[in-house]
Amino acid sequence: MAVEPQADCLFCKIVSGDVPATVVRETDTTVAFRDINPQAPTHVLVIPKVHHPDGASLAAAEPAIAADVLREAGEVAAQEGIGASGYRVVFNTGSGAGQTVFHAHAHVLGGRGLQWPPG
Ligand code: C5P
Repeated sequence: MAVEPQADCLFCKIVSGDVPATVVRETDTTVAFRDINPQAPTHVLVIPKVHHPDGASLAAAEPAIAADVLREAGEVAAQEGIGASGYRVVFNTGSGAGQTVFHAHAHVLGGRGLQWPPG
């Protein structure tokens, strides 16, 4: 079930073009853009165009679009040249995990060594 754009959602406004972003890829169902506060040399966010509050709720409601987001994460990594060296795909879920924008998004991070466990 598609969810209407939310008037108070920053990432819905990026999808509509009302808020600018540096878009690196776009498909019928997703947009990928550079994070404004990058945590690695490559830090791109992949979002579904439809609004769901987090990755798990997206996957429960629209699994095909959740798969699109994951596939696009890999396409971003390849396009950015970090596919071979390794990269991380992160869905912060809930404020306790650092989620600040409640529109599902995958962080694609790479271009440097990444520590495990994450902080
Ligand atoms: O996982 P979390 O919800 O914290 O991620 C939101 C991300 O959105 C942050 O990394 C933040 O830098 C990014 N952001 C952005 N463009 C905006 C607002 C936030 O890239 N206009």
